[in-house]
Amino acid sequence: MASDGVEVSNKQVIFKDYVTGFPKESDMELRTSTAKLKLPQGSTGLVVKNLYLSCDPYLRGHMTKHDRPSYVQSFNPGQTVTGYGVAKVLESGDPKFKPGDLVWGPTGWEEYSVITATESLFKIHHTDVPLSYYTGLLGMAGLTAYAGFFEFCSPKKGETIYISAASGAVGQLVGQFAKLTGCYVVGSAGSKKKVDLLKNKFGFDEAFNYKDEPDLDAALRRYFPDGIDIYFENVGGKMLDAVLPNMRLKGRIAVCGMISQYNLEKPEGIHNLMSLIVKQVRMEGFLVSSYCHLYGKFLETVLPAIKEGKITYVEDVVEGLENAPAALIGLFAGRNVGKQVVVVSRE
Ligand code: NAP
Repeated sequence: MASDGVEVSNKQVIFKDYVTGFPKESDMELRTSTAKLKLPQGSTGLVVKNLYLSCDPYLRGHMTKHDRPSYVQSFNPGQTVTGYGVAKVLESGDPKFKPGDLVWGPTGWEEYSVITATESLFKIHHTDVPLSYYTGLLGMAGLTAYAGFFEFCSPKKGETIYISAASGAVGQLVGQFAKLTGCYVVGSAGSKKKVDLLKNKFGFDEAFNYKDEPDLDAALRRYFPDGIDIYFENVGGKMLDAVLPNMRLKGRIAVCGMISQYNLEKPEGIHNLMSLIVKQVRMEGFLVSSYCHLYGKFLETVLPAIKEGKITYVEDVVEGLENAPAALIGLFAGRNVGKQVVVVSRE
């Protein structure tokens, strides 16, 4: 493969048209086009070879035609799907990067991309961990877990925490951070395999399969007889409604995501908001994009913890761009076990 400006074949995942309801594989298609591995004269961007791509629930937001401003802009039908990934720099018009550098950040779902928004990229300096970790544990999901838990939840030793979608990219880390802080940690997930992971791999104190619990309120009372100090919210809807009356005085709810609502045309209503007043609970949403300044501090905490075996991470890895659409829609059916990663190329 030459990097001298010749055209090369470029497999791409194309977004076909706006989605209502649950996304389907057929909302995306694989196309093979060509890419020039040379920047236009004067460009300050990068030509990169994509290595690993991250499947994230927020991508569903790009597939909706928004009628009001959103933090995720609607994709244009016919464009290449974009998202977070790990890539190798082939050519650089930005003095901060040079050919051979490894980066993570927003890129295209294709073999080769031209990235103009280089300010959103992070250079990868630590390669003694699996590179795919920069799609999750050491990337956007990891920083979300870190900022959401430490900055938002103000956790204290001995407090109780409940995490929904707990075995996923974000949840598995929040639980481990909470255990390292000395909290009592309970997570829920949608299969026995995931519940086993929570208890036996990630060290949660307790875990349950929410699909086996017809009465979520009763399940939460069972695991938290004295109530919940911190709820790390990934799911929304009925789960949030069941959590609210189980919160303790001065509890905190970090609203990270509400995946159960992303494919509904009309979001479900929440009935138990009065608990916020009665229990003086602070519930607040956050976006990881406001916490990029913490990335250095985050790495200083997490890299040694990985190396010392204090933090572990489970990935669900699929090979090949052609399998990316199925992997992405699998998030909304709970098919991923751990962080969903797509391998485009391993070198
Ligand atoms: P993930 O947990 O790795 O994957 C999504 C999981 O959500 C699925 O595996 C499934 O697990 C669960 N799920 C899907 N549909 C559900 C439903 N209807 N009800 C209940 N659970 C459902 O995803 P992630 O990347 O860690 O993201 C977790 C949450 O954080 C998402 O809501 C995401 O949007 C949010 N997030 C927010 C930010 C931010 O900046 N605020 C950043 C990153 C992620 P089960 O088998 O357990 O059902």
